[in-house]
Amino acid sequence: MADEIVAKIKDAIDIVDLIGDSVRLERKGRNYGGLCPFHDEKTPSFMVSPERQSWHCFGCGKGGDIFTFIMEKEGLSFPEALEELARRAGITLPKRRGRPQSQDLYTVMEMAVDFYRRELKGPGGAAGRGYLARRNITDRDAAAFEMGWAPASWQSLNDALRREGVTQEQLLKCGLVSQGERGCYDRFRGRVMFPIRNVSGRCIALGGRIVDGDGAKYLNSPEGPLYSKKDNLYLLNKAKGAIRERGRSILVEGYMDAIRLHMHGHGETVASLGTALTEEQASLLRRFANKCYICYDADAAGQNATLRGMYVLQRAGLQVYVVRFPGGKDPDEMLQTEGGDELFDAALEEAKPLVLYHIGLFEKAAKSEGQAKAAEELLEGMAQLSAVELAPYLQEIGHAVGLPDYQLRGELDRLRRGRRVSAQAAESMAGTDEPPETIDLDGLDDEGSSAPCDPAETGLLYLLWSSRELRTGVDVGETVRLFLDERLKEICGALLTGSSPEELERRWLELGEHFPLSVVAAGGAFCDTLSGTDAEKWQALAAGMRRKSMQARYARLREMMFRGQAAPDEMAEYARLAAELKRH
Ligand SMILES: [Zn+2]
Repeated sequence: MADEIVAKIKDAIDIVDLIGDSVRLERKGRNYGGLCPFHDEKTPSFMVSPERQSWHCFGCGKGGDIFTFIMEKEGLSFPEALEELARRAGITLPKRRGRPQSQDLYTVMEMAVDFYRRELKGPGGAAGRGYLARRNITDRDAAAFEMGWAPASWQSLNDALRREGVTQEQLLKCGLVSQGERGCYDRFRGRVMFPIRNVSGRCIALGGRIVDGDGAKYLNSPEGPLYSKKDNLYLLNKAKGAIRERGRSILVEGYMDAIRLHMHGHGETVASLGTALTEEQASLLRRFANKCYICYDADAAGQNATLRGMYVLQRAGLQVYVVRFPGGKDPDEMLQTEGGDELFDAALEEAKPLVLYHIGLFEKAAKSEGQAKAAEELLEGMAQLSAVELAPYLQEIGHAVGLPDYQLRGELDRLRRGRRVSAQAAESMAGTDEPPETIDLDGLDDEGSSAPCDPAETGLLYLLWSSRELRTGVDVGETVRLFLDERLKEICGALLTGSSPEELERRWLELGEHFPLSVVAAGGAFCDTLSGTDAEKWQALAAGMRRKSMQARYARLREMMFRGQAAPDEMAEYARLAAELKRH
């Protein structure tokens, strides 16, 4: 039963898609390569094979399949990994008793999304539907983006979900209700609702747009066990494929902008939801593409806070381009006007690299705030970037602020030093009162199984693992003897004495043994470098191993003879081996 589920999950999830969520992958022939997420490296030695649905790092030797990846990456146990991947694959697991409650908060969020969606379609949803119609959102679009309606009452969601068995505490933890003096009440009332999902598609928060009456125009879930603002971007789960394909992301401010862009064929769009842009968001986007086009309202894009955010993204390694629209329209409005699509495409085409955009703003600011203040602001921003990043623009910057080259460099150095000092101060302060709470992934290396394996042996093991014909066709004793590495010999033995790869895999995963699957993945990667059919590869590798073990035996016997320890039959064996080695 468990094996069946593991197999079903593996069929449903593409490993490139899964790993691509956290590692920037580039196609390399039949495989994908990238920087290993498990060790620090500058040149990619991490490889993913879509054919074999496996991964392997030539740098640190880790490897395996989708299960080992998610276990290593998220620090999960096998049952947790099973649950996580089943959810991703849309497969329902048989209920386990005594599941931890935190797992269920996601279920509560899904129940809330369903509730709001039902309300939007129901008789109480007329105000919400009216609003969407005014914004040119059809029922189909509303469904595609899972929009909903929070009734203008204080208790509707609370009552509905409590009736379905959700506890008050769960509702509070999800941020769906607030604690008042006389009990809990719905956080979202009289609002059109948008679910906010994380990169892997789990609903972690909701946002609501008020339709009429008082209150903030937009209200989001509070931060809590599920939601952390700085780590998320709206619609990234939908956009990630298009971002990877098109090599760029488009970043907008609000829900409606993002939805409109998706509706108009710009599926690579995500929204920052008005918060200050963070390094975490930058590294989320960088997993899929290096370029980021920022489309903010004309007035917002020029503000210092927004510019600072853009520099945060650029410093975190994104190439930031700023898109400007004529007439101060926001992207949502613009796409709905006559010829809006063409105007939008033209604006994307003419987007300026952040530094050049900033220089353009400087010229205006210099007129209104005075040259000195504007120059200081401009250089403050630029000093966040490295000298290498700034090099192509130095001349233009110097020209704009009216400084000769050497003075400009000196000024930028001064500002950079200032930044470094304050960053160090912040870091040392954080160090004193916050003990690290992260899981030490490096600990996984110390399993005593990290001594390197002979590639040929891993290749043999991989071939046995993947080919039923070989497993049933080869001579057991002879094949086991091919392996010199005791750890591999043991796995080979298990494979040849009737355990199926699926059974073994599940057992290892349950025991938290990463080594065997990592060896199999390494073997697969090695076999990729060989030509021929699997049977031919087997022949070549086995012959090589036979020769190697003969050589080892020959050396051992020779040593015994020199010491006068060899028995007569050993001396005969020595002579036979010598002849045989000569023949090859
Ligand atoms: Zn590695």
